[in-house]
Amino acid sequence: MNRIRNVIIIGSGPAGYTAALYTARANLEPILISGRISGGQLMLTSEVENFPGFPEGILGPQLMDNMRKQAERFGCQIIEENVIKIEYDETTKTQKIITDTNQTFFAKTTIIATGASARWLEIPSEEKYKGRGVSTCATCDGAFYRNKTVAVVGGGDSAMEEALFLSKLAQKVYIIHRRDAFRASKIMQDRVFKNPKIEIIWNNTIKEFRGDQVLRSVVLESTVDNTQTELAVDGVFLAIGHIPNTEFVRDLLETDEQGYIVTQNEVFTNKPGIFAAGDVVDHRYRQAITAAGSGCKAALEVEKYLISIE
Ligand code: NAP
Repeated sequence: MNRIRNVIIIGSGPAGYTAALYTARANLEPILISGRISGGQLMLTSEVENFPGFPEGILGPQLMDNMRKQAERFGCQIIEENVIKIEYDETTKTQKIITDTNQTFFAKTTIIATGASARWLEIPSEEKYKGRGVSTCATCDGAFYRNKTVAVVGGGDSAMEEALFLSKLAQKVYIIHRRDAFRASKIMQDRVFKNPKIEIIWNNTIKEFRGDQVLRSVVLESTVDNTQTELAVDGVFLAIGHIPNTEFVRDLLETDEQGYIVTQNEVFTNKPGIFAAGDVVDHRYRQAITAAGSGCKAALEVEKYLISIE
């Protein structure tokens, strides 16, 4: 029977699994709808060195697998489907959640923890070379570029991380950045500056990807004087930020101009009973540990809310 659930959690990154763990331990019998590929962005990372409790670091996928097992140990049920829509009953304040296989779930509360996905440059030639030289994930695709020349675009921690990872495989790594300074943390910048395989191209953006069946070069344009140059590369890894995964709730919930869910007191959306946690809300910190903390807060608020409506 499709009974009404206490809580449904959408998303399977640190925020989702932490919310699942807390609500499961509170006997709320959560269902977590994980998406087709569970685990979120940390599945695309290599070593995670800044999640407390792992003095030697831990691989991103291993950390996510641990979180999943911990939630399941307390009875959380995981459904590996994508949510395409949430319908909200304004009278009862309950939610109907519809997945891409047309399964429906009814809930008194929902925690949205769908995170954010990698941003692309959105230039015309990009589409042609997606998967043929242009990627957003070095840990996924880096192995194809052993002893080759690659470029990373961006100046944040992700760009530093990708460049450092690629320097272990590729013969040469360029970092192409649109300004003359990185926003990445000092420790990551220092590692990049010390790495002999990495060369930084400041004040440039990619205007065009060129090649035949595969990528051969990029056309760069100076952000200072608009001069164009061509750079031979076998692969380009974009690390230029993220877009929140909120398309399925844009008509329902208040979102900001970038699409992040707007919350009050961190986890309350504008619909009573619907909470949001992690990177789908947070464009400031975006860390695994802050997402996990946010998932915990949402779970605790769900508990309080359920008591209040009893
Ligand atoms: P980010 O900090 O938002 O950096 C995005 C970078 O891409 C910026 O340097 C930005 O340039 C550049 N950029 C954005 N749009 C662009 C465009 N259209 N063309 C060219 N360049 C563009 O994103 P992130 O590096 O993914 O990091 C996100 C968060 O995760 C941060 O809080 C970061 O600290 C965290 N993170 C932490 C770690 C770690 O600690 N190990 C690893 C990865 C990520 P401008 O600088 O000019 O804006």
